[in-house]
Amino acid sequence: MGGNRETSHSLESYKMKFSEIVGQEVAVNILRKSIENKRSHHAYLFVGPDGVGKRTTAIAFAKGLNCRSSCSDGCDLCDSCKKIENGTHPDVELIGPREGGLTISIDQIRKLQRRVSYKPLEGNRKVYIIDDAASATEEAANCLLKTLEEPPPQVILILITENIYRLLSTVRSRCQLILFRQIPRTLIEKILRDRYEVAPEEARSLAWLSSGSIGRALYYLERETPEFVERLGEIFEREGSIIGDYGSLFQFSSEISRDRESALELLNFLLGDLGREFVEDPSMLKQKKIEIVMETVDLIKRNVNVNLAIDGMLLKLQELFTNYF
Ligand SMILES: [Zn+2]
Repeated sequence: MGGNRETSHSLESYKMKFSEIVGQEVAVNILRKSIENKRSHHAYLFVGPDGVGKRTTAIAFAKGLNCRSSCSDGCDLCDSCKKIENGTHPDVELIGPREGGLTISIDQIRKLQRRVSYKPLEGNRKVYIIDDAASATEEAANCLLKTLEEPPPQVILILITENIYRLLSTVRSRCQLILFRQIPRTLIEKILRDRYEVAPEEARSLAWLSSGSIGRALYYLERETPEFVERLGEIFEREGSIIGDYGSLFQFSSEISRDRESALELLNFLLGDLGREFVEDPSMLKQKKIEIVMETVDLIKRNVNVNLAIDGMLLKLQELFTNYF
């Protein structure tokens, strides 16, 4: 797979305007309306899982606010949109934990404060995007609070975080909250196929792995598919006793059972495959495999410990294959 996918992905996300963002209609509509009605807040807090489009949306918002075409979405053609895209617009800035570091420092916030006090140089609004805002040190966060308390006119601050509770409550309460949701798996699959030209089979497994984050799907696209996913596929496909000894079986089970949601998605994904195979070629063995997986899904849905349920599934499959061959 191409080694520069991540680079092209990050560039691409800066290129997007509102109309190209998928899966975040609620957030996008609120922001578009605020531009249309000329009623933007001084500070926003974008909250949602990693990799669902918070930063992309923040950039699109900055474009919409400053676009010369005077509609509520960026045009991607005017001077302003192009500069924002290239990161050279003097009124739009993105700050985050310093390269290689883990926190946003007080120096970064002080610099920001000096700049917010000037009028916009070229655009209508000065937009400051603070990525991973919860990583600000305590003194940086307190410093930022001062700007949030008395925001200069024409300045819009966008704070981005995965976890709202890691921010000071005084910071939270001064921002308009915008929630970002997980993107449905089928939509991720479609994006991967249409925008990234991923083959349907691969798109399906990447979408499963994504847990609703396009960022994560792209992360895996660039790397190898985790071994356990391929291995589980193999177990079902080859119908052999390739699970191995109990030690590796339990080890394998714990890899699959990292969290309830992903385990359920994986099993549903498998059920889809097994169902299709069964229609093409119904056999007792295939039916048994489907029953075992369905039973496991039921158990997990009834809140049985995921790890135990998957242990049970693998043991039953092992038994099934051993008796069958
Ligand atoms: Zn424009």
